[in-house]
Formats: sequence, C-alpha cells, structure tokens
Amino acid sequence: MSNLIELNHVEKRYFRKGGDVTALADVSFAVKPGEMVGIVGHSGSGKSTLTRLLGCLSSPTGGQYRFCGRDVATLSPNERAALRARKIGFVFQDFRLLPTLTALENVELPLTFCGVPSATRRRRAYQMLCAVGLEHRAAHRPFELSGGQQQRVAMARALVARPKLLLADEPTGNLDARAGEDVMNLLTRWNARGNTVILVTHDSRIAAALPRILHLHDGKLVLD
Ligand code: ADP
Ligand code: MG
Repeated sequence: MSNLIELNHVEKRYFRKGGDVTALADVSFAVKPGEMVGIVGHSGSGKSTLTRLLGCLSSPTGGQYRFCGRDVATLSPNERAALRARKIGFVFQDFRLLPTLTALENVELPLTFCGVPSATRRRRAYQMLCAVGLEHRAAHRPFELSGGQQQRVAMARALVARPKLLLADEPTGNLDARAGEDVMNLLTRWNARGNTVILVTHDSRIAAALPRILHLHDGKLVLD
C-alpha cells in the first residue's frame, strides 16, 4: 500500500532576529493508511512543530513532505487549505472551540469549508455529536461544558468531514484520567475503522499502549 505520509530529510527552522531555531532536523519516516502512531519527546523537542507540518499548516524549510502523494511545498495556500479541510482533522490540548457557537455549530463548521449544504451539515454534525455521546449538549456553548465534554465536541468537529488523517496534539493533557480515557477510546475506535491517527503524548501509559512510537529529541527522530 502506498504511504499516506512520507517525510524525507525534513528540516524546520524558525527564522528569528535573536537567532534561528532549528525545531526539526533531518526527520525521515513514512506512515501507511490505517496506522496509529504516537509522537513522544520532552518539551521543546519539536512535537508540535512536526504536528503542524504533518497537518499542512506549515511547510518544511528543507527536505520534502509528501501527503497523499503530493509534495506539500508545491501547493498554493488555497490548495493546502482545501487539502486540510477535506483530509485532515485536528485536536489540540486546549480544545479551541469557538466560544460563541453551540456544540452543534462548532461541529458543523468544518463542513461549511467543504461546501456541504446546510441541512446535510446539521444532520452529519448531530450524528457526530451522538457518536461522542453529547447529543444532549448540542445547544450548549463551550463554557457550559466540562473539559472532557469540550474535548469530545472537538473530536466530533475533527472527524465530521471524515478525514484521512487525524492529528491530536496532547489531546488528554488538560483532562483528568476518566475524561482522558474517553478521548483515547474515541481515537482508538476511529483508528479501528481504518483511519490514520497520529497522537502526540506526554503520558507514558498512553504511549505504551500504541502500536508504533516516534521519539523526538532536540528536533531529531531518535527512535521509531
Ligand atoms: P514541543 O511541542 O515538543 O514542546 P515545539 O515544536 O513547540 O516543541 O518547539 C520546538 C522548538 O521550536 C522549541 O525550541 C521552540 O522554542 C521552537 N519554536 C516553536 N515554535 C516556534 C515559533 N513559532 N517561532 C520560533 N521558535 C519556535
Ligand atoms: Mg507541543
């Protein structure tokens, strides 16, 4: 099977007045469709930088990143945005729901970027809320939800467009053990249905349960 993700000698450097920061250096690996991969490493080792790169939110400053067979650096900003909207879902440690929208409206949002008609949007968003067990909170705004509930809404939002790749950057980092388990169960279930999941985590117990782990150390891949 061909690779969903392919990095060849990827470098990511941040150019700053006080001195450049090389956040990723000579990183090469590939991920096949349907894999579940953990990314671990101490704080500052480049995990979030790598996650943004994999999610086509930024481009490498050296080497090559191919997603779905396409060299991401050759895409225009519009093409990259379209690729993200259709093929990639994101979950962050701090949820990042829009505070003025209800849970249902938050989940609907990615579908507006894909041009899905409004009645279909509503129906699919509601189905996703049911899948994460929050249909009874559809009309609530984020501040009326617990952290665990907010992250489940964020999961529904990340999955509603049925992305090929789900990227989760420390999704359990702000949650207690029980809510973290709910999120892990959703990630595992999504992966079991054949979808690719990449998960950044600090939690050694979570990492130990994953089939494959990438270790970053000072921007380098030290263990796969
Ligand atoms: P992690 O997620 O593993 O904690 P990051 O990817 O956030 O690591 O950061 C890796 C390195 O890059 C750190 O040294 C950090 O200070 C630096 N860095 C991250 N983002 C930026 C940025 N936007 N500008 C400059 N340096 C950055
Ligand atoms: Mg980080």
